[in-house]
Amino acid sequence: MTTTPDDAEARRAVKPVICYPVETLPQPDMALLTGARQDLRKTGEVLVQPRDAATFTVPAGHFFRITSVEGSQVGDLNLWNANDLNERFYSGKTRALHGTHITTGERMWSSFPGMRPMATISHDTLGWYGIDAYGGSVHDVIGTRCDPYTHNLLKGGHYHHCCHSNLTRAMAAHLGVPVREAEPLVHDVLNVFMCTGFTRDTGQYFMKASPVRPGDYLEFFAEMDLLGALSACPGGDCSAEHSSDAAACYPLLVEVFAPQDGALDGWTPPPVNGYDRRHGA
Ligand SMILES: [Zn+2]
Repeated sequence: MTTTPDDAEARRAVKPVICYPVETLPQPDMALLTGARQDLRKTGEVLVQPRDAATFTVPAGHFFRITSVEGSQVGDLNLWNANDLNERFYSGKTRALHGTHITTGERMWSSFPGMRPMATISHDTLGWYGIDAYGGSVHDVIGTRCDPYTHNLLKGGHYHHCCHSNLTRAMAAHLGVPVREAEPLVHDVLNVFMCTGFTRDTGQYFMKASPVRPGDYLEFFAEMDLLGALSACPGGDCSAEHSSDAAACYPLLVEVFAPQDGALDGWTPPPVNGYDRRHGA
């Protein structure tokens, strides 16, 4: 046990400061994106089957949309720079910059040394949800992805349709490599449509039934050529449990759209991060 100091309450009462104020963060031109998305031409789609994953590609300057179809379902999204798979979505830094959940106008940032926007959320039909009485919100960058290792640790057994395994199989198929080779490419996800937070009393990660309904979608603007992989989580709407076949699961639709010619005049792909990478050596 530890001893509580006399000034414990005074220390606890110190006001927090925001770690990364976003006033100096380069902002997306939302007026330009909002204008461009008014007139889009669909160029492709893939239907992600329940308890499975699929890959898709999106050229820089195009949009992609993840839509709930048939029933409430959450998705685990991975993104890579299609031209360099070493540059991938960086969930932790995105969380540090934008908070635990992301919505319209916020971005999915890439790993070091690129550290630049990969995709900007251009529309979120669940934008109305905000933060509920439990501290829950949607589209989190907290959770890592459901995986068979944690499942084995907590419950034993070998469940093969966690998002981690689904994403691994999808990437192995896309690249034509064995799953052991594809697995290290899979990374912490954006939990699309998942409703999560931290309990105030114990600080534990919680989930609750997603507010997503068929027709809801989350739409992104691709800031670079993207390779994406989306898993339709075995947790379904994540109201009860994941990592099993118990929950009702539904497909998720991924669609890719091209803007009209000239609609993005003035937009340029974000450059890699400006740090010189000498690290004081
Ligand atoms: Zn999952």
